[in-house]
Amino acid sequence: MAEQEYDFDLFTIGAGSGGVRASRIAGGHGAKVAIAEEHRYGGTCVIRGCVPKKMLVYASIFAEELAHAAHKGWTLADNRFDWAALRDFVNQDVDRLEGLYGNTLGNAGVESFSERAVVTGPHSVRLASGREITAKYILIATGGEPVIPPFEGAEHCITSNEIFYLDQFPKRLMVMGGGYIAVEFAGVFNALGGEVTLINRSETILRTYDQEVVNRLPPIMEARGIDLQMGAQIEHVSKNADGSLDVTLTNGVTKQVDQVLVATGRRANTDGLGLETAGIELGAHGEIPVDAFSKTSCESIYAVGDVTDRVQLTPVAIREGHAFADTIFGDNPRAVDHSCIPTAIFSQPSIASVGLSEEEARKLFADVKIYRSDFRPMKNIFSDRMERGLYKMVVNGADDTVVGLHMIGPESAEVIQAAAVAIKAGLTKADFDATTAIHPTMAEELVLLK
Ligand code: NDP
Repeated sequence: MAEQEYDFDLFTIGAGSGGVRASRIAGGHGAKVAIAEEHRYGGTCVIRGCVPKKMLVYASIFAEELAHAAHKGWTLADNRFDWAALRDFVNQDVDRLEGLYGNTLGNAGVESFSERAVVTGPHSVRLASGREITAKYILIATGGEPVIPPFEGAEHCITSNEIFYLDQFPKRLMVMGGGYIAVEFAGVFNALGGEVTLINRSETILRTYDQEVVNRLPPIMEARGIDLQMGAQIEHVSKNADGSLDVTLTNGVTKQVDQVLVATGRRANTDGLGLETAGIELGAHGEIPVDAFSKTSCESIYAVGDVTDRVQLTPVAIREGHAFADTIFGDNPRAVDHSCIPTAIFSQPSIASVGLSEEEARKLFADVKIYRSDFRPMKNIFSDRMERGLYKMVVNGADDTVVGLHMIGPESAEVIQAAAVAIKAGLTKADFDATTAIHPTMAEELVLLK
């Protein structure tokens, strides 16, 4: 398929979720494809994001389950937690997955270059080794990286890139931020036995989520022992001879901790990528502007995933990569529908959401109906936990369509995925009510909302 004048039909920069999917599918459509990756195959999600994070979440839940099991007839002797064993297990599994990503590319006939590549023009890239390569199309899938805001002593802090590799378990951890990463890691290290402080610049965590549901989380975090410092910033961090860190907050609080994890958002990975050589202007935060088909302002250069700063989620990057490959090489032009994307925060307990929050719905519709189930899951009763779950449905009163669903409680992410199908399909509250409950489950609350 490669036309005479180009080395490849497609050259992809970045072998994360979006880049690998696009390259594999393009190869399957008969394109001659190459990919360059300067770090590790798999990208943020597989190497230092969703996958190892979820493994830590699972491991941290053992602590809770073991404590409850002791009251339910189990005899558990010598319970001890060994961070090094968990860390090494997680990283070995990440190595395995990285290998699978490499195999996937090889099986699709994609040529891999394990080095940095930069754009040198609309149809050309240069590898770190100096080799110049031409391609009919170039796909930028370089993802994002954590941003650390400026404060004195920021160089002593870590980000989610480093947390999976710590030599020692941080017995005292300060987490800065109130977004996905901050809330998830605060929960993990608290459950594993760490003394955790979460510091957030405003009074609101998880700002983009339905606030009635989110408001359930801070009291639960506090009851579980997390120290929440709201409306505060880090003023400075200094390192002691023993490696511990003294942190001063803007509210006057001082703490000594073992690590400070900064989780204050991520920025597109476009520095030094050479996009100006193809006439591409970046957005205010370094992101690449694209159209509905992921095309940049340059006809031959496309971009998918976090580098575009549309929606920073792995399944979205995968869909964008797939749609790009089908559009350009599969004679099947299609844009990704970014509406109604289900998401979850693996906090403890987890929060999940799909569609509009109540706040958003009220801006769009004159008549909004809210249905709720505020319940103590049987799992919590069995485990002597007082925490209650909340399921909240947002309905357009004009036609009974369910436009949003939000929940906090055990396994929320698992529950919402199936419900998201119904909401994406435009089903009504009456359709939910017409469905028989499975008893006893938590998910049955979805068809019993009042
Ligand atoms: P988020 O965008 O989720 O949250 C950033 C947080 O940092 C907010 O609380 C924000 O506060 C705060 N913040 C931003 N700038 C500053 C600053 N200068 N000083 C102090 N606080 C600041 O970012 P994350 O890093 O948590 O996650 C990045 C992305 O990764 C997410 O958007 C998500 O798409 C993805 N992700 C998804 C996961 C999942 O699906 N489960 C898990 C982990 C990450 P404010 O609200 O005031 O702006």
